[in-house]
Amino acid sequence: MNRGRDRLLTQLRPQIDDERVLQAMAAVPRDRFVPAALRRDAWQNVPLPIGNEQTISQPLVVARMCELLELRGDERILDIGTGSGYHAAVLALLGAHVWSIERHPALSEQAGENLAAAGIGNVTLLVGDGARGLPEEAPFDAINVAAAATAVPPALEDQLVAGGKLVVPVNDRLYVVERTADGVERRALERVRFVPLI
Ligand code: SAH
Repeated sequence: MNRGRDRLLTQLRPQIDDERVLQAMAAVPRDRFVPAALRRDAWQNVPLPIGNEQTISQPLVVARMCELLELRGDERILDIGTGSGYHAAVLALLGAHVWSIERHPALSEQAGENLAAAGIGNVTLLVGDGARGLPEEAPFDAINVAAAATAVPPALEDQLVAGGKLVVPVNDRLYVVERTADGVERRALERVRFVPLI
């Protein structure tokens, strides 16, 4: 029984078609991923501050980005911009394993505690520059970028398997990139707001 969560799911349902994504949004305790003082707002459909001038993304945006990756459960996933670890946690329920990169060590450390508190074990956290991807674990079936780039980072496109998908905000617009047999296909979608990819 969690009224906040039920209300959030009611808000997401008309906008998200993938039932697995809705299940994952219901299963990940977002209240474990926000600072204690903001816990009672955790199930609101809004971004919230998490320190270091960063935010945990809006639930609708997390759900939408996860849906666009079309995950089935067996994917190796790269997540850039760990922040609180929330988005990584949702991805971890939708795929097989998540590698998540954050440039602020303090946020990565807190994310590790948040993921442990939520009982999520299939996420590997790394500190560094995610714009370069993670060549030592590439290729990935899916790549999620939770910070706004100024162009689709070429290193990330290169680290997708054929048929793999990359979701990335570029300036103020969400892009889905799919690697095909002979190149990449980029699609521009709805407007979104994200902190910058540094
Ligand atoms: N996905 C997070 C929210 C992301 S906010 C969540 O669910 O809580 C964007 C994050 O990207 C911030 O924590 C920021 O520090 C990080 N970031 C920005 N540029 C980065 C880069 N080049 N490499 C890794 N992390 C980066």
